[in-house]
Parts: sequence; structure tokens; C-alpha cells
Amino acid sequence: MADTALPNVFGANVFNDRVMRERLPKETYKALRQTIDRGAALRPEVATVVANAMKDWALEKGATHYTHWFHPLTGGTAEKHDSFIQPTGDGGVVLEFSGRQLIQGEPDASSFPSGGLRSTFEARGYTAWDCTSPAFLKEDAAGNVTLTIPTAFCSYGGQALDKKTPLLRSMRAVSDQALRVLRALGDKTATKVISTVGPEQEYFLLDKNFYLQRLDLIATGRTLFGAPPPKGQELEDQYFGAIKDRVSAFMRDLDIELWKMGISSKTKHNEVAPAQYEMAPVFSTTNIAADHNQLVMETMQKVALRHGMVCLLHEKPYAGVNGSGKHNNWSLATDTGQNLLEPGHTPSENAQFLLFLCALLKAVDTHADIMRATCATSGNDHRLGANEAPPAIISAFLGDELTDILERLGKGQKASSKEAAFIDIGVDTLPELPKDNTDRNRTSPFAFTGNKFEFRTVGSSQSISGPNVALNTIVAEALDEIATRLEKAGSKNRNTEIAAIVREISRKHARVIFNGNNYAEEWEKEADKRGLPNVRNAVAALEAFVTPKAVKLFEKYKVLSKEELHSRYDIYLEQYSKHINIEAQTAVQMTRRQFLPAAMRFMTELGNSVAATGKHGVVQRALLEQVGELLASAHKKAEALESEAAKARSISEVPKQAAAFRDKVFPALQKLRADVDELEGIAPRDLWPVPTYSDMLFKL
Ligand code: ADP
Ligand code: MG
Repeated sequence: MADTALPNVFGANVFNDRVMRERLPKETYKALRQTIDRGAALRPEVATVVANAMKDWALEKGATHYTHWFHPLTGGTAEKHDSFIQPTGDGGVVLEFSGRQLIQGEPDASSFPSGGLRSTFEARGYTAWDCTSPAFLKEDAAGNVTLTIPTAFCSYGGQALDKKTPLLRSMRAVSDQALRVLRALGDKTATKVISTVGPEQEYFLLDKNFYLQRLDLIATGRTLFGAPPPKGQELEDQYFGAIKDRVSAFMRDLDIELWKMGISSKTKHNEVAPAQYEMAPVFSTTNIAADHNQLVMETMQKVALRHGMVCLLHEKPYAGVNGSGKHNNWSLATDTGQNLLEPGHTPSENAQFLLFLCALLKAVDTHADIMRATCATSGNDHRLGANEAPPAIISAFLGDELTDILERLGKGQKASSKEAAFIDIGVDTLPELPKDNTDRNRTSPFAFTGNKFEFRTVGSSQSISGPNVALNTIVAEALDEIATRLEKAGSKNRNTEIAAIVREISRKHARVIFNGNNYAEEWEKEADKRGLPNVRNAVAALEAFVTPKAVKLFEKYKVLSKEELHSRYDIYLEQYSKHINIEAQTAVQMTRRQFLPAAMRFMTELGNSVAATGKHGVVQRALLEQVGELLASAHKKAEALESEAAKARSISEVPKQAAAFRDKVFPALQKLRADVDELEGIAPRDLWPVPTYSDMLFKL
């Protein structure tokens, strides 16, 4: 039996720091560390030695192939496997892996979305080794072992065609600006600031046999139809409930697979909806967290299949019960180990904390539209604002105490906390800050949770790269402005300037703070009064990527160029349209081939019964009429849906097409669903051609 003892499992398949130290010559190790930690250029001779060591290590562990693994704009991952073999003239082979093969790849990438960035004559994309995310071995159930090298994916001209490149750029941007602030505050030891993320991943499991009987799940990842079950989540008996053996067996295997790849899977529990679960890792750098989260999603799906189940990552697999999100816990830390969103013990530490907190408030208020846009997908439209997930309005939760302190500072008052425990620093006063914010607000899209912010708008199936690119960049901008002011003020006027900055920001951006119930209708009205954007659908939200404000921001910090932003805007709109189009086609097929025939069979049964029972067949006659009407109506609505989808497909302008899918096709789909669900509610179970909500949610 395989060794599954945790200490032997964790990181067993990772070419991590320990392995590198063991296997690389000292000089090579040092040079590589310089590249990883400081971004120093990697010399070819170093790459050659590293590649060799990596190959030997991988071969010992049974690898036959290597792959450059990257994150195209589809939101998924991509890999093309090459074996290590190199034929020799005499009919044999040697096993090779050169420095060049490690550093760069040239996949024929013409089928990945580029949004017009790559002309067809230059179909090649380039992958470049990202040595800040360790190489690892991917194993599959068939026994294949592949050396997997995390890479960035760019066009010939160096434009980003992936999700990793801007993430790395944004990490540098926020590090540079945060360091300036720290230096201006007198910190001489930190040399780097790292944005950290711990993404909590929600998901559903269902029995594979049910899954295979539903074209909607197979083709779209969600149920397009389904009458409400008698029991949903109203008893709240699933959340944190005892984990069923079958699910627990899955979770154990999932943990082992993740641990092997160095993914620190930490927390697992039942979530709110029936058959819904969550896994949370220990946080890491935004880059590694993004890589790991892709692996988490992939591994969940693979391992579920081994257990005869299917893992659904869609944001809304079932109507009427909670959907799935990804809580993106974000913070900034120095390389000296200081969490910059952790309130400190001394007034000067607290000054620093308040400055970073204010930077976040300013960033979120100024760029709420961009944050919203990074979570804009057709799937997430079902969650946001649907009284379960955060609303589409981006606001920040700070808790009463912190809010109170900021309010006082905004008014230029001495900020005393409730116990009036504040300490003087020169002429200015800063309060003792609450250490832990325990009154968590579960409804806020962006909640301060004591030492980090939890961005809850992120959808369960999406890559976390986009949201973190945005967070890093908008915070970089706010820190940049703060740093400039502090540098100008100099150390003599530092405290006065800190007070002025905190005062101005807490006054100007107080509107983005909201500690109340984000689900309440009054909040929508209140947010409207405060002038906070409330963008209810993905198509409208995505526009925030191409506003002059966004272009200026992302270009200034060299995270995304105007062309790259426009290409992404186009790609995401097209994805929206394609997803709704697939939903429409699936719904039409299921209706014509499954639901209408089922209704007809039911009518035949009813007709026979009416004939057999004569004047006693009152109920049958009434039902016959009801089913007949629904059949006719569903038939008409399927036709309407089909024709709306065809019309939308014929629109060539990308934003217009997406708008048509949103305004015409999606509503037509909803109308059809209403009829079919009603039919399901009255049809005999044995005639209904697909598993029901009760089957999928409760038979696990
Ligand atoms: P809850 O469900 O109560 O929000 P969890 O423990 O499920 O909390 O998840 C919290 C997540 O936040 C974990 O992934 C954790 O590692 C992460 N986290 C903790 N501290 C930080 C930090 N400084 N930066 C980023 N993420 C953090
Ligand atoms: Mg949690």
C-alpha cells in the first residue's frame, strides 16, 4: 500500500526549496534563489544545471514526460506533454531535458483565445518558466507521471495571453508601492512586499449516474431545469454537519492528492446547501495560490470520478439553494514576516496599519467597478444579488469599532476607542485598535476579518487570478499616492501627514464602508444614494475593463496595456455569449427530445384512462387539459428560444451580441424552464426522463 502518512506525503511531488537545496550545487542553488526571490535574470548555464537536476528527480519518481503548464484566457489550464526521449542514431534513446526546454516553450497556440492580439500568421505563443511557483509532478490514476512546469504564456510581441502574466506584474507593482510607504515610515529592513491569498473553494458533489443522465449538467455545468424539491436547505442541517462516509472518503483522497503537490489543504466542511462542501488551503503568495487553486479544481473533479461522483464547480448548479463562491482572503506581508493588515501593538505600528487600511478603502471605492468586473461571468450572474451571495454592489465591511475610529479620525477628532484607550504620538493621536474583528459579516462582498480582507464576490469556477490582479493593482495605486505624500512631507512632518491622509481618506471614502445587512432592500437604496455602482449583470460589468480610468490605472503600473485590456474585454464577452448559447441549445434539445415526449406519453396514459373510466375520469380530464396546455406552451417557448439564440448568434459586434444573449436569449430560457418545471411537478416520476432535484441533492 502506498505510504499515506502525512509527513511523507506533503510536498512529495514538488521540486521545492528543500529538494533544490539537496540536489543543486551550492552556486546554482544560490543563483536560482536570487532569481526566485529578487527577480534576477536567470543565466543559461544555471538553467541547464537546474533542468538536469529536475529531470533526474522526476525520472526517479517515475516521470516520462514534461509539460509547460499555463493559464490561458479560457479560465482553465493548458498542458502539452513531451516525453524526455531523444533518439540516438543506433536505435536507442537518451533522456534529455535542456535548460532551454525548461525556460521556454513554443506551443502552437492558435486555438487559445487571444482577442485579436495574435495575428494568424504568428500563431505561436510562448511559454516562459515562472520559477516563483515550484515545478511539481502530476500523477493520474492511470499511473502517468508528468513533470509540470508553471509558465507564463505570451504572444511573439510579449503581450499577455494568459492569467499569470498580469498577476506577476501586479505583484511587483503592489510590492514596489508598499515598500515606498514602508520606507517613508522608516522601515529599513523589508525588501519585498508579497500579496497573499487563501482562497476558500466551494463545490457540489452528486452521484455520477445522475450526472450522466442530465445533458444540462454535462454541457453547461448547471441544471437548466428542475422542479423545486420538497426539502431544500431550509432546515440548515447541512452546514457544518457530520460528513457522510462517501464524501469523507472523497475528501481524504483529495487531501492526499493535494498534499502530494504541496497544496496545503487545511479545512474541509459541509456547506449551506445540500450536497455542497468547502475546502480551504493555508494562504500563500497570490501567484502560487492561483496556480494551486486551478489544481484544486482539477483534482476535485478527478478524485470525485474515482468515487463514482461528479464535482460541480459552477456558481449555481441548482436553482433555489445556495450557489458556490470562492472567498478570496487577501492581505499584504513583508518578506520580514509582517502582515500589513494586522493591527499592531504600538501607535506607530497602528499608524502603518491605518495607512494600509485607508489605501484599501480608497482603492475599493475608486475602483469598485473593476473589482466587480473581475467576477463577471454568466455563472456568477446567478449568485450576485440573489440573496445568498454578496450583492452586485461592492462595499467594505470594517466592523463597528474600526468604522467608529475612522469616522472620528475623519472628523479630525481624537480617535478614542470605546475604552478611550489611545496613546499620544507627538501632536497626533492614534487609538489602540481592536485586535480581532469577531463580528463577521457574512453578507459583505469585501469584509475585513481581523488581519485580511475577504473578497466574496469571486465565483466558484473562475480563476482567482483576475480578482487578485485587480486587488494588487488598485491597492498599488492608492499606496503610490500615499507614499508620494509621505516622501514629500519628510520625516519631520510625518505624523501630521499621516493624520492628514487618514483624515482625508476616511472622509472621502467612508461611503464604501457598510457594516449592515447587504441582502436588505434598504441597502440597495442607500447604496444608490451614496453613488455606489450596482451592476447586475456580467455584460455591463465587463465594461469597467475598458474605461479610460481602467486603461490609465493598468498601464501606469504596467500590469495590462490598453490592447491587452481590450482583448480581455472581448474574450470575456464572447465567453458570456458562448455559455448562454450552449445553455440555449441544450435547453432546446432536452425539451424536444426528452420533456415534450414525456408530456406526450403522459397524455396518452391520461387519454387511455379517460377512455377507460368514462364519466369518472374527472381528474384525468382536467390533468389532460393542463398537460396539453403546458405541452403547447413549452413547445412554443422552445421555438422562441431557438430563434432568439439564432438571432443573437448572427450579430457580429461582440458587445451587442452579448447584450442580445443577456436581454433576449436568457429570458427566453427562463420562460421555457418555468413551463418544463411545472410539467415535472405533475408528471409521474417514472415518466420523467431525468433525475430530479431530490435525487441529485439528497441521494449521495
Ligand atoms: P472562514 O471560513 O472563517 O472565513 P477559513 O479558515 O475557512 O475562514 O479561511 C480563511 C482563509 O484565509 C484560509 O485560507 C487562510 O489561510 C486565509 N488567510 C489567513 N490569513 C491570511 C493572510 N494574512 N493573507 C491571506 N489569506 C489569509
Ligand atoms: Mg470558510
